[in-house]
Amino acid sequence: MHTLPPLPYEKDALEPLISAETLDYHYGKHHKTYVDKLNVLIENTPFQSLELVEVIRKSEGPIFNNAAQIWNHTFYWHCLTPTKDTKPSEKLLDAINKSFGSFDSFKKQFKDKALNNFGSGWTWLVADKEDNLSILNTSNAQTPISNEEYRPLMTCDVWEHAYYIDTRNNRAQYLENYWALINWSFINEQFK
Ligand code: MN
Repeated sequence: MHTLPPLPYEKDALEPLISAETLDYHYGKHHKTYVDKLNVLIENTPFQSLELVEVIRKSEGPIFNNAAQIWNHTFYWHCLTPTKDTKPSEKLLDAINKSFGSFDSFKKQFKDKALNNFGSGWTWLVADKEDNLSILNTSNAQTPISNEEYRPLMTCDVWEHAYYIDTRNNRAQYLENYWALINWSFINEQFK
C-alpha cells in the first residue's frame, strides 16, 4: 500500500504566497487522490509489490499517471520551504553559470519555460550524467524519473490546481511566489 507522504511543513507555512486553502486542496485532496487511486489500480497486479519509482518506470496509462503524480508532488513539496535563508551551493551555482550563462539568465529561462508549458504539466531543472543542467517541460504526469537519463533537481507544478485558488489565471504571479519559496538546500542535496 502506498501512503500519502507527510508535508514537510504546516499547511499554512507558505502563506501568504501559497495559502493553506491551496495546500488543503492540492495536498489534502489532489495528492491524496492519486495515492488512493493507485492503491485501487494496483491491487492484485504485479505492480503491487514494486517501489513507487519502479511502478512509474514499468507502467503506462492510469497506473503510470497516478504513480508519477504521487512522486512528482512529493518532490514538489520538498522544493518549497518557509525558510527564507536557503541558497544554491557553490557547486550548483557553478553548474548554473556553465549551463545558462548566469543565475539571472537561469531564473528567466526557468520562468519562461514554466509560463509557456501549455496546459497541465511540470517544469524541471535536471542534470545529466556529466552534471550539465537543463530545463525541461513535461505534460500531465510525465516525469524525468521515468528513465535514468536525467536526475531531477527541482520542479514547479504548473497544473492550474497548483495556483488557481491563490492567483486565479495568473500563472506568472504564481511563478514569482514559487521562486520566493524555493528550498535551495533540498535542490543542493539532489545535485550532490
Ligand atoms: Mn499538482
